[in-house]
Amino acid sequence: MSMYQLIEEASQVLRTPPPEFDFENPKEDPKEIEKNMAEAMDRFGGIGLSANQVGLPYKMFVMKTADKGTVGFFNPKITRVSQDTDLLKEGCLSFPDMYLMIKRSKVIELEYQDSDGEKHSLVLEGMAARCVQHECDHLSGILFLQRASRLKLERALKARPKERKKRLEYEKRAAIAKFIAERNEEASNGDAEVKQVDKVGTESRDSQHNENAMDNRSDNDTESSISR
Ligand SMILES: [Zn+2]
Repeated sequence: MSMYQLIEEASQVLRTPPPEFDFENPKEDPKEIEKNMAEAMDRFGGIGLSANQVGLPYKMFVMKTADKGTVGFFNPKITRVSQDTDLLKEGCLSFPDMYLMIKRSKVIELEYQDSDGEKHSLVLEGMAARCVQHECDHLSGILFLQRASRLKLERALKARPKERKKRLEYEKRAAIAKFIAERNEEASNGDAEVKQVDKVGTESRDSQHNENAMDNRSDNDTESSISR
């Protein structure tokens, strides 16, 4: 499994639309891309991730869905948008510790191909509609920064060091809580069962990761401040 990394926020790759994924002549197995992208998105703690955010030259993104887990969307096209809009706080995995109020259509119609190359059409609303609009922007080389007013952008840039400090402090608290939990676990199990303690240690590391991922949301007040 290849471990995708987020590319630098200043990179032109984020500002350039990648080419369509060619199912007739694929350079890579789309199933592998979907799997690796889903793994990377979880590792970064997001709910959506576009291929060009990790430097892959394809029009595709992954998104967490309510019913099907994380799904890969290839060659997505938003074919209709509602006039009705929402103004909600958004974050982006490529720009950590920046949160901006962004106006998006409430309902959209999306055409895409799945990882088998099958074509689908979907009507989405709420968080899914917002997330898809954010990811399709990425695949057009458009950043959420460009959708905010200059004033709000300046405020978010100014607040960035404070947001970063808040996140790092939370991560420190979580690490201490984990240490205490592990020590209590060890004390109650006694010293004899070394293997068991090892196993518990691994599990609590996982659950700490999940708490961190959730913190990205809860720490910033609204549900919509999830990083994508
Ligand atoms: Zn993003």
